[in-house]
Amino acid sequence: MESRRPRRTREKLLLGPGPSPVEGRVLRALAEPTLGHLDGDFVALMDETQELLRKTFQTSNALTVTMPGTGSAGMEAACVNVIERGDTVIIGDQGVFGQRMQDVAERCGATVIKVSAPFGKTLPEETLFEAIDSHPEAKLVGLVQAETSTGVLQNLDAIAAKVHEAGMLLLVDAVTSLGGMEVPVDRLGLDIVYSGSQKCLGCPPGLAPLTLSSRAVEVVRSRKTKVQSWYLDLTMIMRYWEQERFYHHTAPVNMLYAFNEALRIVDEEGLESRWARHRRNAEALWAGLEAMGLTLPVAKEDRLPSLTCLALPEGIDDGRLRRELMERHAIEVGSGLGEFRGRVIRVGLMGSGSTANNVLLFLSALAATLRRMGHPVDVASALERAEERLDGD
Ligand SMILES: *Cc1c(COP(=O)(O)O)cnc(C)c1O
Repeated sequence: MESRRPRRTREKLLLGPGPSPVEGRVLRALAEPTLGHLDGDFVALMDETQELLRKTFQTSNALTVTMPGTGSAGMEAACVNVIERGDTVIIGDQGVFGQRMQDVAERCGATVIKVSAPFGKTLPEETLFEAIDSHPEAKLVGLVQAETSTGVLQNLDAIAAKVHEAGMLLLVDAVTSLGGMEVPVDRLGLDIVYSGSQKCLGCPPGLAPLTLSSRAVEVVRSRKTKVQSWYLDLTMIMRYWEQERFYHHTAPVNMLYAFNEALRIVDEEGLESRWARHRRNAEALWAGLEAMGLTLPVAKEDRLPSLTCLALPEGIDDGRLRRELMERHAIEVGSGLGEFRGRVIRVGLMGSGSTANNVLLFLSALAATLRRMGHPVDVASALERAEERLDGD
């Protein structure tokens, strides 16, 4: 009999838009013995995970849970629970994930008022505010804080104030921000916020953390119609996470072990130090890339610390560049999405992938690859500039 291919693949350095590298501690937690999902020991682990998650979200929201599924399940859960057929919602997009949120909201039966940013830019606040003023009937405003398709960061301070003044809820996608930069849930009173386990939190893909303010919970509780998704219905899931441990679905037990361990790592490092690490390494990467004469299409003040879009020099084929980075250096980066397709690569420094060593390694591998492709760059100054930035504070 022909033998099967080995299941395990060699380790590769994940510097793309997610998943990000997973630490051994987290992988080992995944391998611990599976318990029944109503077992006392497991219930205790869920309680602890919920506490750690509130700390990570910087919130005291009672309804703070993880949904089974990836970040998109978080997006879907956020939308199906607060939106009812016939509602008007305003959803901003600065790229692919904002467009996905608009699509999900439309599938919930909402009339979606779309506010778009030019690709690679933040959403202009005036345009969003005009939409809020001209649609006072809107129930909520949905936004992506960290748009992974463009590497753009949306500041939420003024927007949150405006949305609340208008009596609307603010729904925020924090998939690529949570664990890598501030997600000001309680500070700004963000009402519905979801993330994913696999980006800056350093856990494998498979869980979507979600938190709702008491105002949002009230909106869910006073729905006129049932939530259209049975599986993602928070009115039932709340009963499982809270007092009753009412059986709804079997919790993904081992994923929760892994997630618990990942959140412990976040807690040990401390949120502020973790954000500072993501920022310092991103700035070193930017300095190195610019020293190579390469262009970063997003303005510096709008860039994400967790994901950087890098414009490809004339004549450099993005498929070949990514293939060579993988085949010769075992480094994964992402391709451009939407209007950036074929024109940029996306480099993620997320979770435990955000290290000084990875920055230097990536710069060297990129320089070697570009040289092979007929575009030599000054790698010595790139490394020097990056190191200056790394030593800077
Ligand atoms: C990755 C991502 C998602 C989707 O998460 P999946 O884990 O791929 O389902 C949603 N929003 C943003 C901003 C993301 O970066």
